Amino acid sequence: MSHPTDGNCIFCKIVAGQIPCFKLFEDDATIAFMDINPVNPGHALAVAKGHWPTVDVIPADVLAAVARTAQQVAKAVISELKPNGVNLLQANGEGAGQSVPHLHIHVMPRRPNDQVALNWDYKPGNKAEIETIWKRLKAVL
Ligand code: 5GP
Ligand code: ZN
Repeated sequence: MSHPTDGNCIFCKIVAGQIPCFKLFEDDATIAFMDINPVNPGHALAVAKGHWPTVDVIPADVLAAVARTAQQVAKAVISELKPNGVNLLQANGEGAGQSVPHLHIHVMPRRPNDQVALNWDYKPGNKAEIETIWKRLKAVL
């Protein structure tokens, strides 16, 4: 199966076997391996084999395959490591904290008081503003 690649991309190099990784799983469209900067022990990544930077450009079937792989890894993390919780996180663009522009889903085990800054407080939104934006989005779906 051939995939788009980018010669300068660290994850493409991992997919090609040019850079080592602690590989957990692989299928035709995806690979999963341990993150080298774990937020907690067991932090892993489910990665598309092809080089698609973000959620808006990756083919839907490949994204679905990455989600399936993330679920497999999450199940292993949950049953084996018994974390307090698990976040699946997928960042798109610099503003969202994406540092590797090759689509991946983080499987992040959580521990009590781990200081991982992903949670936010509930703050009720402005209904009119929600509605205005809802109309704009609905119109392009
Ligand atoms: P992002 O910031 O794009 O959502 O996540 C990129 C992730 O890739 C980070 O958590 C970072 O630790 C991880 N990462 C970056 N370079 C490498 C690498 O060479 N090997 C592995 N295993 N993980 C990497
Ligand atoms: Zn890549």
